[in-house]
Amino acid sequence: MTASVITYTAMWGQEVDVTPPVIMRRCPRGYPRLAFRGELAHDRDRHEILWRRQQTAPGRGPQLTGRVHSYRQRRAMDDLLCHVDAVSALGGHLLRGGPERTGDRPLFLLSCTEVREGHITAVPPVCYRCAPRVAGARHRQRRPYTAVLVDEVRPWGVSGLLHDPVSVPLRPTTASLVPVGYRSAHARWVVAHQALVSLHGITPVRPRLRNAAA
Ligand SMILES: [Zn+2]
Repeated sequence: MTASVITYTAMWGQEVDVTPPVIMRRCPRGYPRLAFRGELAHDRDRHEILWRRQQTAPGRGPQLTGRVHSYRQRRAMDDLLCHVDAVSALGGHLLRGGPERTGDRPLFLLSCTEVREGHITAVPPVCYRCAPRVAGARHRQRRPYTAVLVDEVRPWGVSGLLHDPVSVPLRPTTASLVPVGYRSAHARWVVAHQALVSLHGITPVRPRLRNAAA
């Protein structure tokens, strides 16, 4: 996300956290795990990870720079939607440096200078219409980034508040968000805030920039 581009996944001032208190409860397979008081079916994803509850009020209050709305971020990752305008992020990208077939691959603009196979990110892709604007904003702000086309996007885990299972009452181990893989033993003790994916079959590219020579 860039400060000068209003994005679909951005969090707004009135989108307050309404996550219920957490308790420990045994899952159907008998293992203890984190649960909500008054837990609802949609509080967990298909990996049985518990997700924070957050009010949905896009556009109300100030846009909170650097913060994302958990449900919209998760939806963009699940469906590979553009994190700016929520349309499909597959294919159609215009690249610099001559014609190149992009196929139906999604484009990710990552805030790092080197991207390796299996790179894990919380930032959903960007569609071909929005990519020039987002990349142009990064250039103007002198924020380094790497653009990559991706053959395969795999669900990896979540970023969330990891709880200490022996604390009474149950409380997070740290106030910071912690990356937790779906296969990790910690997955039972996290309240997710963002979905994480891993990127495979990556090709670094240079997207065209608005108001820049192609
Ligand atoms: Zn877009």
